[in-house]
Amino acid sequence: MRKRIFAANWKMNHGPTAAAGFIREFRSRWNGSDAEIVFFPSALAFAAVRAAAGDPSPFKLGVQNVYFADHGAFTGENSAPMAKDAGADYVLVGHSERRHVFGETDADCAAKCAIVERSGLTPLLCVGETLDQRERGETSTVVTRQLREGLARLDQIELTTSVIAYEPVWAIGTGKNATPEDAAKTHGVLRSALTELIGDRASEVSILYGGSVTPANAAQILSAQDVDGVLVGGASLEVERWLSICSS
Ligand code: PEP
Repeated sequence: MRKRIFAANWKMNHGPTAAAGFIREFRSRWNGSDAEIVFFPSALAFAAVRAAAGDPSPFKLGVQNVYFADHGAFTGENSAPMAKDAGADYVLVGHSERRHVFGETDADCAAKCAIVERSGLTPLLCVGETLDQRERGETSTVVTRQLREGLARLDQIELTTSVIAYEPVWAIGTGKNATPEDAAKTHGVLRSALTELIGDRASEVSILYGGSVTPANAAQILSAQDVDGVLVGGASLEVERWLSICSS
C-alpha cells in the first residue's frame, strides 16, 4: 500500500528560530493521522527543526537539495550522506525552482536521485510542465520524459521506494492550481510511465500534487484519482494553514 504524504517545502523561509517555533506549535496541536508529514526546512534550520520535532519524532524530515558528490571541495554545497547523518529521510530533486532558476537538467536529477538512494534516503522527484508546454498540449510528453530521465539511474527496488510530485510550473506560487481532473489525468500518465518501468509495483509509489495547494482546495485535490498527497510551499509556512491542509 502506498503512503499518503503531506510535504512542506519551506524554500528559503524560516530561519532556525522561526522554524523550531513552528515545529513546537505544530507538534502540540497536531492530532496525528495515518499520513506521513514531511518538512523540508532550509539546511541552516534543519538541526533546529530536528531538535524541536523530538525523539521519536512524529514527522519525517527532508533537505531541499544535495550536491552530486559525497564530499569534497564544493564550497557551499551539502551532500546526501551528510543529509542522512543529520537525520533526513527525504531529498527534493528537480523542484521547478532548481530546474528554472538554477538550470538543473534531467541528467542532473538522475545523478541526484542515484546518490540520494545510495545514501539511504528517498528522492522526492518533482516533474511538471511550463505554461507554454501546457498550451502546446505537451504536458504528458514533458512529465513522462522528466520521470523516465530523472529515475534513469535507479534499479527496480530504488524505483519502487521513490516518491514523485507532479508540480505544474504555472501553478507554483501563482494561486492557480490544477483542477482535480487535470491532476488525475497527469497522475495517471505518471502511473503508467512507472508501470512501464516496474510493472505492478508502480502501485506502491506515492505521487503527490503540488502547486498553490491551500486549505480551501486541498480536500478536493486529494480526492482526485491517483493523488496520494500534496507538496506545499506558501501555505505550509503558517501553522494554522498547514494544520488545516494536513487534516484534509
Ligand atoms: C512548491 O514550492 O513546491 C509549491 C508547490 O509551492 P506553492 O505551494 O507555494 O505553490
